[in-house]
Amino acid sequence: MIDFDYIIIGGGCAGLSLAYELQINNKIKNKTLAIIEPREIYERDKTWSFWKVNPHNFEDCVIKSWREFSINISGKTNYINCFKTPYQTIDSGLFYKKIIAELRKNKNIYFLKTIENLKRGKSFIFNSLADISPKKDDLWQHFAGFEIEVEKKIFDSEIMNLMDFDCDQKNSVHFFYTLPFDTKKALVETTWLSNMKDETEKNYEEQLVNYIEKKLNIKNYKIKYKEKGKIPLFNPRIIEKDNEISIGTAGGMTRLSTGYTFLNIQEHSKYICKNFENIAKIKNFQIGKKYQYLDNIFLKVLYKNPKLMPGIFYNMFTANSEKVVKFLSNKSNFIDDIHIIMKMPKMVFLKELI
Ligand SMILES: Cc1cc2nc3c(=O)[nH]c(=O)nc-3n(C[C@H](O)[C@H](O)[C@H](O)COP(=O)(O)OP(=O)(O)OC[C@H]3O[C@@H](n4cnc5c(N)ncnc54)[C@H](O)[C@@H]3O)c2cc1C
Repeated sequence: MIDFDYIIIGGGCAGLSLAYELQINNKIKNKTLAIIEPREIYERDKTWSFWKVNPHNFEDCVIKSWREFSINISGKTNYINCFKTPYQTIDSGLFYKKIIAELRKNKNIYFLKTIENLKRGKSFIFNSLADISPKKDDLWQHFAGFEIEVEKKIFDSEIMNLMDFDCDQKNSVHFFYTLPFDTKKALVETTWLSNMKDETEKNYEEQLVNYIEKKLNIKNYKIKYKEKGKIPLFNPRIIEKDNEISIGTAGGMTRLSTGYTFLNIQEHSKYICKNFENIAKIKNFQIGKKYQYLDNIFLKVLYKNPKLMPGIFYNMFTANSEKVVKFLSNKSNFIDDIHIIMKMPKMVFLKELI
């Protein structure tokens, strides 16, 4: 049995991003690394999107970048430029393929299916298994999507629709999200922000068919790919252990107001790599305290006032769009934050603040 220097538990987005970052920076040259991942095959299971506020290692896995997006509420549409920070989509299938091919070049990297029989010994562990124990009212972003293909050129592939709130909200926050990859192919998702107690929110396929056929007015289409998921909008339980760092969702890399996680995972990987020789002593990497604080208030407002949320999101994006994107991507400065806060209904937010 080999005693590994490093163990990554979970070869998903965070585990593989970290292993890749270490590999391309020659950190596993004279060391051993085991990646524990139970899945038998790697295939596309997620579509990761984000505003590109930072460079990342996966430009060649980007299937589309947009420089403009829209947001709708009933009777109104707002078009927003994002030239400086394009909105990008990564195909997880391409991401897995690229990383696995690179890691296989290194004989010091081992792929194991289970942690059973593995001696922890002196290994340093990067753990992406999240301890998600939601409380009664904790919120989730839960969603499902169809990637559809049509025969005629009907999509405007230059503008993606971030949020279309012109749909049944029930007692939650609900929107559709459309990523047109080209004029004939788009991913359409139905997304809910709620505590997931209302079962009627979960007939996702019916919602998608209804939206595609009645709202987008598309009658003939083929479903090429389906995606379904839920992202916790609360922090996982992180138990600090010696010689262990939590990564990914488990490591608190999700921005709670939006569910965006992918670029935070990339930043965390770079941080670990930069401090690798000193890993047992470094300070934990975190999404800024300011964002944790503001997101907490935002989610309280959302939970208590779901009906106000379409208008709040819409107005937020009528503020300087560059500042909003920076804010949602954890890159805003004090002035940007004030701009955003000024767009919020003051009394509702003040109540939660107090
Ligand atoms: C469908 C979906 C779409 C998303 N889209 C976006 C997006 O557009 N933008 C964005 O920023 N974020 C998005 N997210 C959020 C986030 O980026 C992803 O959840 C991301 O995959 C989190 O990475 P992770 O490594 O923490 O978890 P995962 O990628 O889920 O990796 C965890 C790994 O652990 C493995 N595992 C499970 N059990 C064990 C075990 N017992 N031992 C060892 N390994 C185990 C799993 O097989 C998995 O490979 C999305 C999430 C989902 C679910």
